[in-house]
Amino acid sequence: MERNVFETATLTDSQPETNENFEQLILKADDLASDGDLGSAYLVYLRASKHKEFKPSNLSKLIDCLVENLKMAQQISNDLFSTLTCEICYGLLIDPVTVDCGHTFCNSCLSGIVNCNICQNVVTPDFNRNLNVLLNKLIRGWIPEYKDILDRRKRVEALLVNKMYNECLEIIEESLKLGLEKHIYLSMRSRLHMENGRGDSALKDAERVINLKPNWIKAHYHLGEILIQLGYTEEAIRSYMTGLSLNPDNPDLRETISQRMFQFIKTSTPEEALRANVAKSSMIRQRTHIHDPEDSIDNIKRKLDDAQLPMEEINCSLCWRMLFEPSTTVCGHTFCKECLKRSLDHSPNCPLCKSSLVQMLKHRLFSTDKIFELIVKHFYPQQYSEHYSELLTESLCVSGISDREMKVPIFVCVVTFPGVRCPLHIFEPRYRLMVRRCIENGSRTFGMVRPMSDNSYANIGTLMYIEDVTYLPDGRSLIITQGSKRFTVLDRSYVDGYNVANVRILEDEPIPEAERQDTMNLHDQVLEQSREWLATLSESRRSKISQQNGDIPSPGLTEDEIKEKDGPIWLWWLISSLPLEEQYKINLLEKNNLTQRLRFIQSVLKYLSEMQQQR
Ligand SMILES: [Zn+2]
Ligand SMILES: [Zn+2]
Ligand SMILES: [Zn+2]
Ligand SMILES: [Zn+2]
Repeated sequence: MERNVFETATLTDSQPETNENFEQLILKADDLASDGDLGSAYLVYLRASKHKEFKPSNLSKLIDCLVENLKMAQQISNDLFSTLTCEICYGLLIDPVTVDCGHTFCNSCLSGIVNCNICQNVVTPDFNRNLNVLLNKLIRGWIPEYKDILDRRKRVEALLVNKMYNECLEIIEESLKLGLEKHIYLSMRSRLHMENGRGDSALKDAERVINLKPNWIKAHYHLGEILIQLGYTEEAIRSYMTGLSLNPDNPDLRETISQRMFQFIKTSTPEEALRANVAKSSMIRQRTHIHDPEDSIDNIKRKLDDAQLPMEEINCSLCWRMLFEPSTTVCGHTFCKECLKRSLDHSPNCPLCKSSLVQMLKHRLFSTDKIFELIVKHFYPQQYSEHYSELLTESLCVSGISDREMKVPIFVCVVTFPGVRCPLHIFEPRYRLMVRRCIENGSRTFGMVRPMSDNSYANIGTLMYIEDVTYLPDGRSLIITQGSKRFTVLDRSYVDGYNVANVRILEDEPIPEAERQDTMNLHDQVLEQSREWLATLSESRRSKISQQNGDIPSPGLTEDEIKEKDGPIWLWWLISSLPLEEQYKINLLEKNNLTQRLRFIQSVLKYLSEMQQQR
């Protein structure tokens, strides 16, 4: 619902108050704007504008509220033709280029674009962008007029660059007669009119463009610019606002509106504002309402209704299945996102053209190619959703069978312990895949076990939680993990080259009430002995331990901790740090009795201290 910002303004409201606090004025105006009383808000902003602190950014709230008032229900249509429309020029995608965020625009529309027009993500500047190979091929196949549309646009662009306006007008008139992409040519003609001082004709064309493409942001912006030059400031601001309401996050448009409103408010007095308003209402500008048929485009739309897409055209060249969650590389090749990531685990180059994809790996830029996803869903909706549910049911993640038994991916490496940190360097392709899946499915958990001599792995291990991941440019990664529960392996299998296992959680058996005091005493002795042992270590040895295992967790044992299912964490830290053979460490991991663990460690510490004394 449009609202006139001047409607409720009255002269009596606007007497300047002395000693008004600037901040309070802005707050008051913001409040009024939030309440929808834009007229009163406007007058308070006007008072604030007399302060020297006043800046365009103070109007941010007003702009938000105006946009909210104007917001149009955006027409989202799912026909193939609108899918193949460029959001910048609102014409057919010509020389389509897919950028980092997965949105696609005409190559020529992208020049000078810093943020994506749709999602505002940063677009990496690149002067040699590659076309989206498959999409380009499909559009050309579906739309026989493609070459004509492309040629016209290229010719007009070249003529405009060389300022050959008359020749340019010829092509524009010809294209308008043909009815091909009328909005683009009307918009160009409007610009030409404006440059040659024909303001009224420029305005007429700009309004026809809006009649044709009411959701085209650029059209509202352009109309705003013309209205400003013709002196219709208030209407111009409304036109910018309408544009902004189509994409309220557009930073450039916001900036323009702030500047224009700032100028407008700063230079007007309430009397002038009212006068301007009265004058305008007695001389309402005639809006152009011409029915603009777009015959040729309707033809194209009809043809697209019968468009075919054989499934082999949209097969992923890595898995030979229909593209699923398609992702397009900087070199313009499209694969299933998951297939592409797996391929990059092995080599940082495009599987088709061998271009380097190091940048993509480094910034983890694996966006879904939005247009391709729509195209695949458009032609094969059933197959697409089937593939999706298949993936969901594939057991790729930690899946609970009960709260004590679960299926986990297995990393065969070293013995790790509950609560103890373990940094890992992930370089083998199968583990890159495994770690990525753990991160992506949100579990961040895998099982860690020690390898055994017969090419298998130990029966006992620890669940590891991935606390932090650093991806290196070549696809390797450094992860920081922390041990949680211990487990026993129940049965073993493989998924995509790595081990998975059904495991049962292993916990300490409770210590009987009568033995608790003894265990506490034993614990305190062991703690004392371990402090003595740590004190005998060299500085370099100690720093090596803390690099690997982190610092010693706060030692001690309380009544509560004795009931913990894994006992005190510091003890695991000590076990991890002691110079013990791996097999002994596995034995300790397996012991589900705190008292037994303490006794064993006590004997180890005693032995170490005797060795020390003999030296
Ligand atoms: Zn475009
Ligand atoms: Zn985007
Ligand atoms: Zn694939
Ligand atoms: Zn490629």
